[in-house]
Amino acid sequence: MNLVLLGPPGAGKGTQAKKIQERYGLTHVSTGDLFRAALANQTALGRQVKKYLDSGQLVPDELTTAMVAERIAQPDCAGGVMFDGYPRTVGQAKALDGLLLKAGKKLDGVMYFDVTEETAIERLSGRRICKGCSAGYHVKYMPPAKPGVCDRCAGELYQRSDDKAETIRERLSVYGRQTEALIGEYRARRLLITVDANRAPDEVTAAVLKALEKLSGSGR
Ligand code: AMP
Repeated sequence: MNLVLLGPPGAGKGTQAKKIQERYGLTHVSTGDLFRAALANQTALGRQVKKYLDSGQLVPDELTTAMVAERIAQPDCAGGVMFDGYPRTVGQAKALDGLLLKAGKKLDGVMYFDVTEETAIERLSGRRICKGCSAGYHVKYMPPAKPGVCDRCAGELYQRSDDKAETIRERLSVYGRQTEALIGEYRARRLLITVDANRAPDEVTAAVLKALEKLSGSGR
C-alpha cells in the first residue's frame, strides 16, 4: 500500500504516521524530516534548502522530487510508503505519479487530515520535539511528565524554529495557495479519504485505522 498524508502543517500527519507505521509497517517518508536531516548534517542539499525552511516557503519542486526519488529507491520502501508533506504542489503530484509508475507501484489512497486553521495554529505553536529520539509532544495536549524533558529517553525538548508565530502564518498561507488544490484533484481521482482531524489524537487514530482497514480490504 502506498499512501499520501495530506493536510496543512499542524494537522497531525506525523503523529498519525507513526500509528499507521505500527499497524501496517509502511515506511514513513517525510520530506520535512529529510530536509531537516540534510540541514543538520550540513550537506549540499541542506545548504540549498535552508532559506526556504527558515522562511516557511516551499523548496523548489525539482529539488524536492529528486530527494523523494532517491529515498523511495531504498529497499525499505519496497513494501509500501506513506508520504508525509509530499506532494505539496500540483507539479509534485504529477511527479509522484511518474515516480510510482516507473517503480511499478501505484497510489492507493490519499488521507486528508481536515483541520481548522485555529486548531493547526494551536498545535504548531505548542509543539515540542525531543532532540534525542524525535518523539513529539504538545505543551498543553500531550505534555511530558517533566516539562522540557522527554518521557522516553530523557532527552531535551525543543521547539522547531519554523513553529514560531510569524513562520506558522506564512506556512499556512503557502498551504492555502499551493497545496490545497490537491484536495480537489485527488477527490476527482476517487483517492481521497477525509478524516476529521480536529479531535484528540487517539480519536483521530481510531478513524484513520478504520478507514485504512476499509481501504486495504477493498482492493482499490
Ligand atoms: P514540514 O515538516 O512538512 O512542515 O516541512 C517543513 C518545511 O520543509 C516546509 O515549510 C518547506 O520549507 C519544506 N518542505 C517540506 N516538504 C516539502 C515539499 N513537499 N515541497 C517543498 N518544500 C517542502
